[in-house]
Amino acid sequence: MTLDNILEEIKKAKTIVILTHETPDGDAIGSSLAMKIAVEELGKKADVIIPKYSRIFSFLPGANEIKEDSSLKKYDLAISVDCADLKRLAKGEEYFETAKTKIEIDHHSINTMFGDYNFVNPVAPACCEILIGMFEYFGIEITQELGTCIITGIITDTGGFQYSGVTAETFEFAAELLQKGVNISNVYTRVLSTKTKANFELSRLASNRMEFLEDGKVTFTYINLEDEKKAGAEEGDHEGLVDIGRNIEGVEVSIFIREKEGANGYKVSLRSKEYVNVADVCLMLGGGGHIRAAGCFLQGTVEEVKQKILEEIKKVLK
Ligand code: 5GP
Ligand code: MN
Repeated sequence: MTLDNILEEIKKAKTIVILTHETPDGDAIGSSLAMKIAVEELGKKADVIIPKYSRIFSFLPGANEIKEDSSLKKYDLAISVDCADLKRLAKGEEYFETAKTKIEIDHHSINTMFGDYNFVNPVAPACCEILIGMFEYFGIEITQELGTCIITGIITDTGGFQYSGVTAETFEFAAELLQKGVNISNVYTRVLSTKTKANFELSRLASNRMEFLEDGKVTFTYINLEDEKKAGAEEGDHEGLVDIGRNIEGVEVSIFIREKEGANGYKVSLRSKEYVNVADVCLMLGGGGHIRAAGCFLQGTVEEVKQKILEEIKKVLK
C-alpha cells in the first residue's frame, strides 16, 4: 500500500525536502509545516523550501525555519504537498526532479501523478485533512503544534468550513484538534478574518471595477502590477479578492485576474457557486484546480484574457 511505501521511504531517507505550490495558501503552508513536524516525530529532519509566502502565516509553528533555498542540491527524498502538477511546484525542477525518491500528497481533482508514490484523494476538502489520516496510520501523535498547522489548511481551503466539500469527518477532526488544545478561534481570526491594509485597498479597487456579465451570472474584475505597487502589496495580498464576486446573489462564476510580472499576461482565478465545474474550464485553458476553485495563466491584455475565459464559461453556463 502506498502509505506503507511512504513511511518506509521517510524512514530510509537521510535527507528530506518538503515542497509545495507557488503562491502558497494556508493549505500549502499548513501541509508543509505539518509534514515537517511529522517527519521529525519519526526521528528525521526535513527542510521546507518555500521561496515566498504571505506573512499572515508566519505565526505557524516551524514557519521561522522555512528556507528560500538550500545548499544541498540532491535530497534522498522529496515530498510535494497540496500541488497538482510539477509545473506549479515552487522549486520543483531544482529539488523535486533531482531527488532520488519523489512522493506526492494532494487533493486536487485534476492531478498529474508526478511522484514515484502518489497519495491523492480528490474529495478531501484540504490536503491537511489527508495528512491527519496519514499521520494516524503512521502512529504519529497529533500534538497542539501539528494540529495548529493542520487546522490552518482546513480552515483556509474550506473558507472557514463553508464549502460543500466539508464532511462530518472534517468537523470530527476539528473537534479532535480542539480537544488537543488547538486554538481554532485564534487560527480562524488570523488566517481568515484579518485582512492586511493592502488587501483592503486592492479589494476596494477590485470591487469598483466589478463587471456583471451574462445576466449577472458571471462577475469579472482585475488588478494589475501598478495597483499592487500603489497599495504596497506583498505576497498573498490578493488572496480572497475572487470571493467578492462569488459571494454576490445570483452569481455562479466569479473571475478575478491578476497581472503576472514579466509574463505578458494574467494569472486567472475562478470560483463557482453551484454547478459550473471551473476545474474543467481551467483545464481547457491550460490550468486546473478543484470543481469550485481553479486557476490558469493566460497571455494578453485584460480585455483579451477576459474574452478567452468568457468563451469557455459560456459553454457551461445554464
Ligand atoms: P487560486 O485561484 O486560489 O490561485 O487557485 C485555486 C485552485 O486552483 C488552487 O487549488 C490551485 O492549486 C489551482 N490552480 C490555480 N492556478 C492553477 C494553474 O495554473 N494550474 C493548475 N493545475 N492549478 C491551478
Ligand atoms: Mn489545498
